[in-house]
Amino acid sequence: MKYCPNCGSPNVEWVLPQTWSRWRCKDCGYEGALIIEDGELAKEIRKRYLEKKDR
Ligand SMILES: [Zn+2]
Repeated sequence: MKYCPNCGSPNVEWVLPQTWSRWRCKDCGYEGALIIEDGELAKEIRKRYLEKKDR
């Protein structure tokens, strides 16, 4: 499972399917090489992201 490093969403996809070097998040629009595979860390990021968004 892969997660967005910006918002913690699992809704990420490859920008170019041939390479694994770039990812795009369908939830927040993040685009970059960094991706998170740790579900616990993603949960924390997701929580903080949603708190920030609500404010
Ligand atoms: Zn995201």
